[in-house]
Amino acid sequence: MQAEIHVGKDWTVNQTLYKIQMAPQGVIWRYMIQKRYVLLLLGLIFCWHHGPVSAQSNPGEPLKIIATLFPLAEFAETVVGPHGKVEMLLPPGAEAHSWRPRPSDLVKIAHADMVIYAGGGMEPWLEDILQSVDNPDLMKLEASQGLDLLNDVEHQHDKEGAFDPHIWLDFGNDQIIIQNIARALAGLAPLHKAFFRKQAEAYNQKLETLDELYRKALHNCRSRTMIVGGHAAFGYLVRRYKLTQVALLGLNPDARPTAKQLKEVVDLAKTQKIEAVFFEEFVNEDLARVIAKEIGAQTLVLNPGANLTRAQRIQGVTFLELMKRNLENLKKGLGCQ
Ligand SMILES: [Zn+2]
Repeated sequence: MQAEIHVGKDWTVNQTLYKIQMAPQGVIWRYMIQKRYVLLLLGLIFCWHHGPVSAQSNPGEPLKIIATLFPLAEFAETVVGPHGKVEMLLPPGAEAHSWRPRPSDLVKIAHADMVIYAGGGMEPWLEDILQSVDNPDLMKLEASQGLDLLNDVEHQHDKEGAFDPHIWLDFGNDQIIIQNIARALAGLAPLHKAFFRKQAEAYNQKLETLDELYRKALHNCRSRTMIVGGHAAFGYLVRRYKLTQVALLGLNPDARPTAKQLKEVVDLAKTQKIEAVFFEEFVNEDLARVIAKEIGAQTLVLNPGANLTRAQRIQGVTFLELMKRNLENLKKGLGCQ
């Protein structure tokens, strides 16, 4: 395997490839253990919960909303304002695909008025929970419903499912999701319907501005190919702004590249005179650094936006700010004018 890839004499290449070769078995075991873990917890919750929880039993109280990922939590928080409390399940710094819920998270879902999740394979653990949780009044909002989803054409070998679940990286999708959140909230608290609509419109205006910023900034670039040293999270973004994504990992960070795929990426990067390799904050960046070194490129951060680091959470970084930072690095890495 090592002999087939000519990405240099650097020993880190061999080390990285070794890690990749060793990955699958570990991943499978981890998955099985987690699966059993979730089933056990579901059993526990079933025992604790003797009667259905009525979401509307306390109409005066703020709505209890659970969102799985950072963008969904920000959207919900903005729309609901003082009429609800939004809790994000993903802890700061956690990688969204490999994270699994804790017992306390399952209890939270059992007592919530509404749960908002991306769907489309993003939260594979949630399906079992939603089917088993004894909370008939729980409103379930699957954000990917009704969107023009991208088929997982490039990565059909991934166990994630048939669609690319990173729906929030299309700012048009986000506007639809926000409208759906406003509508769902109005169903739960009809008195505040006008407020929810107003909040949704104001946030969508910001997304329009962001979209326009991206469109202008990425219009004239030296390269339109993004080499991503992480997983293929940016499918919706590249579709919207007519770029191409070449990711070293699959749709899920656990899907490792073969030596042949790595060599192809290096060859492509050299042919196209690529000047930057983008890497994620939540995925090991060794692979990006190795490729960047081999082709003489710089590495730049690109955040898929599903989560924040602990420091970013403390600073109160918003989804919109995160996307603006991404744009700055995209402009730098792709040589846009
Ligand atoms: Zn992802």
